[in-house]
Amino acid sequence: MNLILLGAPGAGKGTQAEVICDHLHIPTISTGNVLREALKNGTQLGLKAKSFMDSGALVPDDVVIGIIKERLGEDDCKNGFILDGFPRTVPQAEALDEMGVVIDKVIDIEVADEKIMQRLSGRRVCQDCGASYHVDYKPSQTEGVCDKCGGKTVQRKDDHPDTIKDRLHVYHEQTEPLKDYYAKTGKLTIVEGQEEVSDTSALVLKALEA
Ligand code: ADP
Ligand code: ZN
Repeated sequence: MNLILLGAPGAGKGTQAEVICDHLHIPTISTGNVLREALKNGTQLGLKAKSFMDSGALVPDDVVIGIIKERLGEDDCKNGFILDGFPRTVPQAEALDEMGVVIDKVIDIEVADEKIMQRLSGRRVCQDCGASYHVDYKPSQTEGVCDKCGGKTVQRKDDHPDTIKDRLHVYHEQTEPLKDYYAKTGKLTIVEGQEEVSDTSALVLKALEA
């Protein structure tokens, strides 16, 4: 199954991608993770993406389309994949179509802007393994230390309140139109994000079976 997860930053796409991955045994491709990894490793790609990411802007389409083209060509994508954070603009969606990639389902996770502000401003991520925490809702057992790998948990630069506002603005302007784009293909299912992660997961898994 070839899936797309849509939704605002902080809607929980990454978390739900993990759940689907456990369920269907298909890889998740997160352009955000690929870019952050590149940044950490100081590659050309990372250098190119840094200023955009830090300010909450989108990285240029040609850059992320290139990442996706390469990644979808790898063997582990043959039996399906979950796209988390791609496409984020209409041209990116068109590029997928032009590559001949057939998408089976698009799941849009809806969360109100105020909730997103709360979630992202309290989010902490492990700088080694990427595991995600929240200072109020999901603290790590020891503050600042990842439960999974013992790495250091930090606040992402783009999770500072002013930058979150910019990201939400970008989302509404550039990414939200994708709901219409995929509604027209009849592949879109909207899932209301719930207070409890597991409740959202139940809805997501139901959407996959429908
Ligand atoms: P979130 O969903 O929490 O905003 P991501 O990890 O998906 O975060 O993305 C972080 C940043 O990486 C984005 O703000 C943007 O700068 C860049 N990025 C990720 N995916 C894309 C994409 N498909 N198109 C353009 N920029 C992207
Ligand atoms: Zn970790």
